[in-house]
Amino acid sequence: MRWSTGDRGNIEDARGRSGGGGMIPLGIGGFIVVALLSMFTGVDFFSMLGGGGGSGSPQPTSVGTTGSVNASPTEEKLVDMVDAVARDVQETWSQKLGGSYQSSKVVLFRDAIQSACGYAGAVSGPFYCPADQKVYLDLGFFDELQRRFSAPGDFAQAYVLAHEFGHHVQKISGTEPRVRAMQEANPSNVNALSVRLELQADCYAGVWGHDAAQPGRAARGAVELDPGDLEEALRAAAAIGDDRLQKLGNGRVMPEKFTHGTSEQRMTWFKRGFDTGDPRQCDTFSATR
Ligand SMILES: [Zn+2]
Repeated sequence: MRWSTGDRGNIEDARGRSGGGGMIPLGIGGFIVVALLSMFTGVDFFSMLGGGGGSGSPQPTSVGTTGSVNASPTEEKLVDMVDAVARDVQETWSQKLGGSYQSSKVVLFRDAIQSACGYAGAVSGPFYCPADQKVYLDLGFFDELQRRFSAPGDFAQAYVLAHEFGHHVQKISGTEPRVRAMQEANPSNVNALSVRLELQADCYAGVWGHDAAQPGRAARGAVELDPGDLEEALRAAAAIGDDRLQKLGNGRVMPEKFTHGTSEQRMTWFKRGFDTGDPRQCDTFSATR
């Protein structure tokens, strides 16, 4: 994936800050599932997933304090990449949605953060908070994506970000509030609706990927995909499918507990967005399967 360094206008850097207390919404999947399995069973599935060096629980220091950021050049480059992808994804959506698009930011944090949606630890993975309409990301997740989930590559990382911005589009377009109301009205349907919401975010990530795959973009400073990038994203989508994660966790697949969709569903919907570049093709709520 090719991209150009910008002014980090799409980043809110909270790496020198941390917070405490709360719950987690709308993540990319994977981390939340594994964390919950670990929590409920007392077994550290993170170390079982390979890679060792257990994740442990985040240790929040003080609330809302701002400290200096001590980051390696590699991490700084990652920040620039996140900024470039966020800028690009948002350009796509402001073109598609016209004046109704409201720009968002990626809040970078380390270990733990207090968001408008409550407390979140790095262990929850990247997530979108509908309450403050921001994407939250601990850069350490990209290491996990590579090591524990065997999904390396910058476009795999970009897919994760684009998925979270997909949730932002759902918030702006009114889909997220509508689905939340349906979930509250019908608690037995919470997981099934969650899967449809997540698969739509995957499809929206693909819609951006379609744009990014157009040739000649790098020359004007935009993100441009390289050969093999699509496969990186598909590998990531497969790696964090509910069935794959459940199998890794306790060896059993429990479809009634799905919240993000199977590996196959996640790949299929991402690909659908990628192939068409048309958000109207992302109606996971009308789809029969
Ligand atoms: Zn999600």
